Amino acid sequence: MKITQSFIPTLREDPGDAVIASHRLMFRAGMLRKLANGLFAYLPLGLRSFRKVERIIREEMDAIGSLEIKPTVVVPGELWKESGRWESMGESLLRVKNRLGNDFVVSPTAEEAFSALVRDELSSYRQLPLSLYQINTKYRDEIRPRYGVMRGREFVMKDAYSFHTNDASLDAHYEAMGRAYRRIFKRCGLTVIPVRADSGAMGGSGSEEFMVESEIGDNTLILCESCDYAANVEKASCKADYSAPGEAVSGEAAPAPAIEKIDTPAVRTIEELCAFLKTDAKQFIKTLIYRAANVELDLSGAPGCSKLERRRPAPDAPEVYGEAFFAVAIRGDLDVNEVKLAAALKAAEVALAQDSDVERLTGAPVGFAGPVGLGSVPVIADETVTALHDAVTGALAKDLHYRHVACGRDFTPWLVADLRTVKAGDLCPVCGGALYEKRGNELGHIFKLGYKYTKSMGLSYLDENGKSQIPTMGCYGIGVDRALASVIEEHHDGSGIVWPMTVAPYHVIIVPIKYEGAVKDASDALAGELESLGVEALLDDRDERPGVKFNDADLTGIPLRVVVGGRELAGDRPRVEIKGRAEEKGRLVELSLAAKTLSLQVLAEIALLNS
Ligand SMILES: [Zn+2]
Repeated sequence: MKITQSFIPTLREDPGDAVIASHRLMFRAGMLRKLANGLFAYLPLGLRSFRKVERIIREEMDAIGSLEIKPTVVVPGELWKESGRWESMGESLLRVKNRLGNDFVVSPTAEEAFSALVRDELSSYRQLPLSLYQINTKYRDEIRPRYGVMRGREFVMKDAYSFHTNDASLDAHYEAMGRAYRRIFKRCGLTVIPVRADSGAMGGSGSEEFMVESEIGDNTLILCESCDYAANVEKASCKADYSAPGEAVSGEAAPAPAIEKIDTPAVRTIEELCAFLKTDAKQFIKTLIYRAANVELDLSGAPGCSKLERRRPAPDAPEVYGEAFFAVAIRGDLDVNEVKLAAALKAAEVALAQDSDVERLTGAPVGFAGPVGLGSVPVIADETVTALHDAVTGALAKDLHYRHVACGRDFTPWLVADLRTVKAGDLCPVCGGALYEKRGNELGHIFKLGYKYTKSMGLSYLDENGKSQIPTMGCYGIGVDRALASVIEEHHDGSGIVWPMTVAPYHVIIVPIKYEGAVKDASDALAGELESLGVEALLDDRDERPGVKFNDADLTGIPLRVVVGGRELAGDRPRVEIKGRAEEKGRLVELSLAAKTLSLQVLAEIALLNS
């Protein structure tokens, strides 16, 4: 391909709104242009790399027996009402009406569409397992699209959905997907951090996220310095840094003195209390009142819950309490992890209660809640609280605290759970090493959904005994645009992109010093020879100074550059200079051997990434 016949509008300047390298470089290298906020057009160079990422994903999906289909992007709203996500997806779901006034959705994901397809075709256990995928356009009405295609509104996702008669079959396919994902990212030249993740709004149990490190990442990852422990902060746990209940706490053999009420005038924050009582935040029991919605946990017999009624939000859904309040007690130096709290309560959502609710339930202004004598709500304690036997806590009255509080003596939690937010410096739950934090972006996610969608959407099949059964389900996504942008994030330098060979838009760029005469003839011949060897070559036939061409070659990041011209070409054994994009210096190769040399290097680099 000759550059003058393509459309590669490179830019000298960075676009004003670009913060991250991939956004900046995709624009400057002429790969991408913006149509509107969060909406981007891929130009020919960008699309070539995009298609290569797609191809790698497609090959790996095909290799594990997932079958490609092509459903529509616009999906009837009825399907989303069936699953309940018409409501729960909120404003990020783009809803449209057709001329008849019927509701439609521009797909942000496709559990509903695939479940509906399979529902209509599934009759026998013999059809299962079945794994289907698409590589298709999605739309999410992000509030703040940012960072180019890293977080656009319209994007392409590979999403696969699998249906199984039993857990073992789902587990096997889930594992195969995990291995396929690792191969996909390796082949793209991406270093990913696989982390166990929270399933969040997707529901179900068992999931793994594939993250790339990124300063602007949406996720906080907790990693271990000494082993390969990695978790999303939402799910991360850590080794106990307190004595287990019943164990003597070192240096405090004597039993704690009796609980005592103390005046703490004009003292509200933990910092102020520490100063006032000359003690440490680790000796406080911080108590926060939470409101939880759709709580599945059985609260019969729990304090303050006798009048709560259970209901079913949907015919097949489990019974839940619509609303319940809890007091969450945690050591004063720690923060409550609301994802863990929601999981412990089996609640759809949890949030700090309004001040008016806190005052009503504790009988005191905000800031004086404590677990002692609190009968209006169940007390949920973090594990750390159970080890506290001489603590300070609010006394359910203005300007009053208790001291010498012992958990188990002065109050008994209704439920004890791991509720703390793990942070850098905490200890690894696997090996005890120090944990540290990194920001990360999610590239892929695999989930065991279980029966969430197959139940709500009424999928069934007949088993070996002719009995009707509901299939179990998994779903597996990869953002194609985000994967491509992440390749650039990982592979660039001060001059531009440094493509891995597998996803480079072209393998080789031929740069004639001046595209005329013998130089032109040699360049054209080399381009033809490379083409016949299956090497993708771009020929810079522009009438530009060599410096401009070299800068653009570096900017577009094509892995191998061949310079044709000058006195090297003029000799009786004409030579050209071959240089890898990441290399400092090139090497001279005889023109007659150049195509073969380049071809072998291209194949070797692809083989290495694919191995
Ligand atoms: Zn560790």
